[in-house]
Amino acid sequence: MSAPVVIVGAGQAAASFISRHVMLGNSESLLLIGEESHPPYQRPPLSKKYLLGELERERLFIRPLEWYAEQGVETRFDTRIAEIRRVDKQVVTDDGEAIPYDKLILCTGSHARSLPAEIGGTLPGVFTLRSIADIDRMAPEFQAGRKLLIIGGGYIGLEAAAVARQLGLEVTLLEMAERILQRVAATETSSYFRKLHSDHGVDLRESTRMSRLIEAGGMVCGAELDSGEIIDADLVLVGIGGSPNTGLAQAAGLDCKNGICVNETCQTSDPNIFAAGDCSNFYRDGQQIRLESVQNAADQGDLIARVLGGEDISYTAMPWFWSDQYDCKLQIVGLNLGHDHTVVRPGASESSLSVWYYRGDQLLAIDAMNEPKSYAFGRKIIESGKNPDPQIVANPATDLKTLAMSK
Ligand SMILES: Cc1cc2nc3c(=O)[nH]c(=O)nc-3n(C[C@H](O)[C@H](O)[C@H](O)COP(=O)(O)OP(=O)(O)OC[C@H]3O[C@@H](n4cnc5c(N)ncnc54)[C@H](O)[C@@H]3O)c2cc1C
Repeated sequence: MSAPVVIVGAGQAAASFISRHVMLGNSESLLLIGEESHPPYQRPPLSKKYLLGELERERLFIRPLEWYAEQGVETRFDTRIAEIRRVDKQVVTDDGEAIPYDKLILCTGSHARSLPAEIGGTLPGVFTLRSIADIDRMAPEFQAGRKLLIIGGGYIGLEAAAVARQLGLEVTLLEMAERILQRVAATETSSYFRKLHSDHGVDLRESTRMSRLIEAGGMVCGAELDSGEIIDADLVLVGIGGSPNTGLAQAAGLDCKNGICVNETCQTSDPNIFAAGDCSNFYRDGQQIRLESVQNAADQGDLIARVLGGEDISYTAMPWFWSDQYDCKLQIVGLNLGHDHTVVRPGASESSLSVWYYRGDQLLAIDAMNEPKSYAFGRKIIESGKNPDPQIVANPATDLKTLAMSK
């Protein structure tokens, strides 16, 4: 019997690969290996409805557990792969079992960065947010009246702040950069979310660096800022970004640089090994990038199944992303990397607007806050390669549908 296609990492990219493989009727047998106890699940609700307690665990699963067996997909959860033996075409579990593969798909995702132990990063009461297990540890601590300190003003920190305020916690959020979302968004988008959180009572402090977390009675009890100020906290959430899980690939000698380097078919520097999702680093528009988004993981997993099925295709999918905070839905399409100016289009209400990113005349990306129409028509505009004049976009009288449909 020939060796199976082995998928390491049971997350979004893996689920998408398997779904497409099954749909195409590809003949190779599949073995899915994941270190978590669960079948592949959606992570976005973890910092939204699941943390809020409004979603049951089973609703997170991308496919019910039984589905994999029904499709003839072998699964092994609670199993960590510790090594890839490329010459023998085997992966080795951390208890030493060698498993042969015909093709290997690395879907190992990324992990939440943590703070060093020397500054209190490992104290009880300090959390990161990446998995169901993280939420199960953290959620019981989210009780009204308690003081939550969030380190980092990226999407996960901001979403958790919104949930915590809805549950009645007092929230302080520290961002060491000049503004929240600085790495990923324009000043207008940062300003929108700063106001949203301030209006909901978050004590949001930018250009503020924490020097260490403080302990009392074996638990975290606050943080000291560079200024010497002490902030009290009952619990701390560290949301300072993610790093790709490349350890396996690196040890096996695959090319890695902020992720596992892949070509336009998601193939790594070993032709028998592919990589998809948060762990992969690929070229787009002449730039080497790594994305942490459902779209990227799902589309890359899907693409690999098609490539293994014999299709001659390249990865060109349009990036999109979303975030939910209070009653605001942010939708993003495109990539704003390298933009040199932006234009703001007012929305239909006070709480809605969109930010359009340009490089020269070229429209690159859109952030749409409570503006589903700007997102939908803007997406069509970007996909069709149109580059509307920024002044026309900024004019609320411009009908985006007409703009999107025009030749
Ligand atoms: C809290 C949170 C909120 C998010 N919100 C959004 C959002 O609103 N919109 C959006 O587009 N994206 C969001 N994302 C990002 C999105 O969820 C990820 O980009 C996506 O899950 C990546 O899928 P993946 O398959 O690459 O990795 P993952 O889904 O993380 O799966 C990787 C799996 O591989 C396992 N693994 C790693 N190494 C090994 C090994 N050696 N052996 C076995 N198993 C291993 C890991 O434990 C993990 O289970 C969010 C992420 C988080 C954490």
